[in-house]
Amino acid sequence: MRKTLYIIGLSTCVFSCTSQPNVKKNTYKPKTPVVQAKPAVKPATPEPPKPKIISDHGVEFFTTNIADPTKNDNTASYGSIVSAKPAGYKVVKTYFPAIAQNFRQRYLILHYTALPDDKSITVLTQQAVSAHYLVNNTGDNDIYQLVDENKRSYHAGVSSWRNDKNLNDTSIGIEIVNTGYTTDGSGKRIFAAFSDEQVRKVAALAKDIIVRYQIPATNVLAHADIAPTRKQDPGPMFPWKKLYDEYQIGMWYDEATKQNFFDLAQLDFTTRYNEPSFIFLIQTALQKFGYGVDPSGQWDDATKKTIEAFQYHFRPQNYSGIMDAETWAILQALNQKYPIK
Ligand SMILES: [Zn+2]
Repeated sequence: MRKTLYIIGLSTCVFSCTSQPNVKKNTYKPKTPVVQAKPAVKPATPEPPKPKIISDHGVEFFTTNIADPTKNDNTASYGSIVSAKPAGYKVVKTYFPAIAQNFRQRYLILHYTALPDDKSITVLTQQAVSAHYLVNNTGDNDIYQLVDENKRSYHAGVSSWRNDKNLNDTSIGIEIVNTGYTTDGSGKRIFAAFSDEQVRKVAALAKDIIVRYQIPATNVLAHADIAPTRKQDPGPMFPWKKLYDEYQIGMWYDEATKQNFFDLAQLDFTTRYNEPSFIFLIQTALQKFGYGVDPSGQWDDATKKTIEAFQYHFRPQNYSGIMDAETWAILQALNQKYPIK
């Protein structure tokens, strides 16, 4: 009987699929009257699979991402599940989940270690600095996790971006094994390249973290961005544009917008270069973008280092630390594209 109903139902579908307005009439006539099939009993919606949990050193971890941002449920990810276990009482997590909550992990900060593989591991595990992840340069598929994502690692130091300070509190840190820079005879820093496979590894890891915590593009930054007077890493050899183009990670400017600002900048950039009001304008634009620079109206040392950090990230072909028309155009294009909400 069930089979018969199925066949009738199928033929009904064939009718409706061929009943197009442009189909000639009388091309097909059913020999038997159409019997309305009884609606099939709707099977019960299967229960979504329960997320698996593993226990490691007494701490429970989800093995899959169970966050559901559409229900504002964004507190659960692969991270550890830590709750109080008061003696004699039961902590219940399922009845009253609050709407007012978000992730503590709001930034992703990239670094280089300035050390080879073995020394990177020793320093980041045995000394006063650390990172959540360490991406080696040995060509295998391993990524080392040194700190639980729900805990704070010590990678950022004194740092700021937009209105936030001390970004260790709110960030995930990724250290990438890379030897950093040497200085040439003229004092210019010459940076070591990143291998393609290492970049792919960083991109996969970064993407995973950004998606799980919904980290906005404006909060995916270099250590040098959040501490420009102290830090250079991951430096100008790190391919931010590639990450943006191929993985939709982080910020990048639109070329046409940059060109418009560049055409405008060229009109008076050189004549205005040393005007305090112009320097103030540029410093304010750097500050608006996110850098912790104080507008002084002078090309002071902190401003030069901030410009250099900006160039490492967004104009790596020339990282002189000197503001020029192209750097100025890129900064304005970025401020237009990524305004503070
Ligand atoms: Zn760093």
